[in-house]
Amino acid sequence: MVAMIERAGGPAVRIPASKMLIDGQWCDAADGRTIPVFDPATEEKIADIAAAGAADVDRAVQAAHRTFESALWQKMRPLDRGRLLEKLTLLIERNAEELARLETLDNGKPYTVSRNIDMKFTVDALRYYGGWSSKMAGEYIQLSPLFDDGGTYRAYTERKPVGVVGGITPWNFPLGQAIQKIAPAIAFGCTIVLKPSEEASLTTLRLGELILEAGIPEGAINIVTGYGHEAGQALVDHPLVRKIAFTGSTATGQRILESSSRQMKRVTLELGGKSPTIVLADADLDKAIPGAANAIFHNSGQVCTAGSRLLIEASVFNEVTKGVARIARELKLGNGFDPLVQLGPLISARQMDRVASLVASGVEEGAEPLCGGERDGSKGYFYRPTVLAGGRPDMRIAREEVFGPVVLAMPINDVRQIKSLANDTEFGLGASIWTRNIDQAHLLASQIDCGTVWINTHNVLDVAMPFGGTKLSGLGREFGTEAIHAYSEPRTVCMRL
Ligand code: NAD
Repeated sequence: MVAMIERAGGPAVRIPASKMLIDGQWCDAADGRTIPVFDPATEEKIADIAAAGAADVDRAVQAAHRTFESALWQKMRPLDRGRLLEKLTLLIERNAEELARLETLDNGKPYTVSRNIDMKFTVDALRYYGGWSSKMAGEYIQLSPLFDDGGTYRAYTERKPVGVVGGITPWNFPLGQAIQKIAPAIAFGCTIVLKPSEEASLTTLRLGELILEAGIPEGAINIVTGYGHEAGQALVDHPLVRKIAFTGSTATGQRILESSSRQMKRVTLELGGKSPTIVLADADLDKAIPGAANAIFHNSGQVCTAGSRLLIEASVFNEVTKGVARIARELKLGNGFDPLVQLGPLISARQMDRVASLVASGVEEGAEPLCGGERDGSKGYFYRPTVLAGGRPDMRIAREEVFGPVVLAMPINDVRQIKSLANDTEFGLGASIWTRNIDQAHLLASQIDCGTVWINTHNVLDVAMPFGGTKLSGLGREFGTEAIHAYSEPRTVCMRL
């Protein structure tokens, strides 16, 4: 099912042909439609993926449901589900270089990032959840009966897997996001149909081969590719799907929540952000300046927790903004296969145009560009890292998620404003505070309305830490022990002895 493509000027990459993994078999979309895939660094067409319709999604969900109900799945020992995940982990480790090359080709991110961050996270997440598979436990509850009928009452809970999960993922960390849905689903006894982003599906398809090689039962993990409004929506609307685990934009998340409410599906929504990086005057600026730059420019700003609002205490405003702009100018943009490249392209022309239009709106509304503010070159979707200074919270660029390498710096004129400035957003995903005053750091951490607060660091993710957002940044949490609640439900059994 896999074609070997020789990349001009680079190592060969296996590209899954335009097939989907349904019920353990590779198949085309029922109506044969495909979607072309382009390398964002060169704009060259590199592959086609299948464009699933409702009929394909139905076949995948039926397969996941059959496997979920089967004696094989229901009776499989939790430790053996963990063992399957461990086999998959080892296969990913063994194929990490090839997977990383494919991720770089499809998504554009530097190979060193694909290899050392994305693949490492993927392996960590799988191994972490594999360990959880045998640790799902209920509780035993002593009751206080309302009337004395001579009986003794006791109750216990057991945690039951929610059933068939529909996983829907974006394009910024494609393989990592796929595993983020697949691993807890399998660990906690669910089965899953995963739809990766149409912008970056290739590593998830290659993962499909490794899933078969690991001997994971047919139908337990299905991969359908296609457009969100077709394949994604069909998954959300399917009555046999009991839970949607979604990562993507707030607009799509809202649509999914609305559709899911009709069948009262369980949902976890990991959505967009507008996270503040807060630099106080007493911070160690030698660490805070590169920290603030990395908070926004990592993965070309295509990170949901990107520190896109830089709030700086007025007395160090110029030093910090100039320092971040200097780093931005020095970052090397280019094809991710060049070992010296630090920033890759944006995912698509559409994304590049959106970033450019938001920057233009910021400049029009009075922000001063210190660097960047334009496309880099004429081939590939490269946008120069951009620092806009002198922003105000009411600007469009201060309020909307950019999802690109663009930071808006705003001064903090009075430290009593920090809480309100940081919280002046519809989003609530992340925030970082840079200071040497640890009391102040913890006080602020408790005041910022968001899912994760970092102190003297930013964007540190660990699968053991719960992750998710407040306000328009989402619903529910993934990772850590929270994943148990996301993929299983308690059933209470009450008895009279
Ligand atoms: P997107 O919402 O456009 O697409 C995400 C996924 O949803 C894709 O697979 C897409 O095909 C699918 N989709 C689109 N319409 C759908 C519909 N009607 N029904 C079902 N599925 C549908 O997002 P994107 O542009 O791929 O990703 C960028 C966004 O993701 C940003 O807003 C970013 O902040 C967010 N994100 C959030 C997190 C997090 O953990 N909070 C992580 C990464 C990215």
